[in-house]
Amino acid sequence: MKGLLPEEELRGDIKEMKKRIILLGPPGAGKGTLAEMLQEREGIPHVSTGDLLREEVKKGTDLGKRALRYMEKGALVPDKLVVQLLKKNLSQDSFFVLDGFPRNLQQAKILEEEKMRIDAVVNLRVNDETIIFRLSGRRICRSCGKIYHLVNFPPKKEGICDICGGILYQREDDREEVIKERLKVYREETQDLVKFYKEKGILEEIDANGEAEEIYASLVEVLKRNGKEREN
Ligand code: AMP
Repeated sequence: MKGLLPEEELRGDIKEMKKRIILLGPPGAGKGTLAEMLQEREGIPHVSTGDLLREEVKKGTDLGKRALRYMEKGALVPDKLVVQLLKKNLSQDSFFVLDGFPRNLQQAKILEEEKMRIDAVVNLRVNDETIIFRLSGRRICRSCGKIYHLVNFPPKKEGICDICGGILYQREDDREEVIKERLKVYREETQDLVKFYKEKGILEEIDANGEAEEIYASLVEVLKRNGKEREN
């Protein structure tokens, strides 16, 4: 697992930024895209529980088989399984941008129990039409995981990854009926988290309806502001 990076490997503006970050927001808010941008540009490792779970499913592990039953329906995988996976991939001294965890209040409390220091929680606010448009057009490279969008960010050659030539696929749970269930679950389970982190005073909110570059700029601004405030 990509953990703490030596100082000389940190890129861009990261030195002034917060480095242990949680991205919150509904499916399709752009958590994965923004986390990938932070990883590529600043060197902060992207840790996605959805990706970790899909990897287990792909490998056919016991955990993957158990998780798949929930993922197919758009339901949450039991905390115990997700935490088991996360523990293998996070350490007390790593930098990270966490995408897809915590998903409910219990999971946030688990992070606290594990004494995981969190520098910033950024909530991505986005409306439902944007979500449906983004998710139904999302395509992912089967080999390298690069995310595309049929309209907003199409590959140069249809169905093929620009970076590695891998085949693009649509996630099973990006079908419209499953999207609706995932949004329902998000509303029921995840929104309490916003309140929880607000009360802790580490919540930031940004408008995530626009273009990726625009949203990324707001995100970096918030993380830098936060980083500076902490130094002072
Ligand atoms: P994502 O890629 O974040 O949209 O996650 C895809 C699916 O993986 C979700 O619909 C859940 O079934 C499962 N999943 C991902 N993260 C978690 C989590 N923190 N807790 C429970 N289930 C999760």
